[in-house]
Amino acid sequence: MSQKIVILGAGESGMGAALLAVAKGYAVFVSDAGVIAEGRKKELETNNISFEEGGHSLDQVLLADLIIKSPGIPDTAEVVAAALDRGIPVINELEFAYRFTSKPIIAITGSNGKTTTTLLAHHILAKSGKRAGLAGNVGFSLARQVIKDEADIYVVEVSSFQLDGMVEFTADTAVLLNITPDHLDRYGYDFDRYANSKMRVMANMQDTGSIVYCTTNTEANDRVVSFDTPASKIPIGLENNGTNKGYLQDDILYYFAGDKEYRVPLEVLPLRGPHNYLNTLVAIAIAVRYGATELNIIQALPTFRNAPHRLEYIASIDGVDIINDSKATNVDSVVYALGSFDTEIVWIAGGQDKGNDYAQLKGLVNDKVKALICLGADNSRLYENFEPLVDVIVETQDVKEAARMALEYANKSDVILFSPACASFDLFNNYAERGDLFREAVLELKEEINA
Ligand code: ADP
Repeated sequence: MSQKIVILGAGESGMGAALLAVAKGYAVFVSDAGVIAEGRKKELETNNISFEEGGHSLDQVLLADLIIKSPGIPDTAEVVAAALDRGIPVINELEFAYRFTSKPIIAITGSNGKTTTTLLAHHILAKSGKRAGLAGNVGFSLARQVIKDEADIYVVEVSSFQLDGMVEFTADTAVLLNITPDHLDRYGYDFDRYANSKMRVMANMQDTGSIVYCTTNTEANDRVVSFDTPASKIPIGLENNGTNKGYLQDDILYYFAGDKEYRVPLEVLPLRGPHNYLNTLVAIAIAVRYGATELNIIQALPTFRNAPHRLEYIASIDGVDIINDSKATNVDSVVYALGSFDTEIVWIAGGQDKGNDYAQLKGLVNDKVKALICLGADNSRLYENFEPLVDVIVETQDVKEAARMALEYANKSDVILFSPACASFDLFNNYAERGDLFREAVLELKEEINA
């Protein structure tokens, strides 16, 4: 009898795992506690995969020889705990997919910048003529792609939740961008546990592997420097400090590999802000490792378009640029967002506070922010922290109202920055819906004003 795999969660990763498992001859059962999207149900039916939704039937799930769970389901969930209790191995989709490909995998993690860096690295590689697969939280799941396994390399965005389910997974290039407090609720409010989970991106590496990391982030830097591994380490920073292999100097990004020097002028970069110079340097380091030339990189970068909601320019109204950074769901990303503009800023922030420590924002807010528009169900922590630092602080629970208020306080050449520092779940389904509604509101206002 064939081995039985149960998949918990029918999102993109669960679907990919189910399809791969069927292709490899396993008996597969998919179980989702919520509603499975119509399109996915069709795909399951077409592939003769049995499934259930609206709850997990323990008797079915516990028949599994192996369970593949969605990264969104914690180990403490009843169904997972019961399986672990019985000694059934529980892994995740990336770990499963890894077992069916021998192609090099570039695994990119960090608290912030994963998607941007993954897309950048993939873009440069693709434009350099490489057959590069894009996977993880962006694009299709790795499992779905290794069914045919047509790519030469895979660029994969990896979250800490995914790293928690890794066993044998081995990256050829592991990237650690930064470690700053985030998702601590899943780690018992223990920063060390969260950081250790990020460090697992480097597990099992051989001497042929490379670890790319940002020295600008002390937590990432110190942990990688003291990490014992046969893999080589590639430090990336913003300064030419004698040890960084990539840095910014005189408006040029420099990268050194072996005896080769790569120079990329800032003017070809599609993204602004020091955090994006770091993301680009990391992407350059990756691309060079897999054969991209300096010319490839310089030609590829100008055509890059980032995913929406990351310092996304929406429109200009009366000389005021309006930026959607809805993906900024923690404090560190807002530090970088505020640091990306030289103008005065009307800042729209707020949402579900994840126990934020606002101390590192205070100097920047004091220097740059003239008005703070709070857009959350409960804005008391924003008031507590920032009322003494800004001329104006107001609140609303309506996104269009927030945009309208921001325009009221902005003068020509100011920037309106929607960079919440908080999760979106108090007023929205997710950060993408929050950003989409903000964009819509701004474009409507623009039309009304120009009418
Ligand atoms: P992730 O996938 O890790 O959430 P994104 O690329 O989606 O990262 O960016 C999330 C937020 O973090 C955005 O607001 C973005 O402007 C900011 N950001 C991007 N790169 C970095 C970085 N290297 N350091 C800090 N913040 C960053």
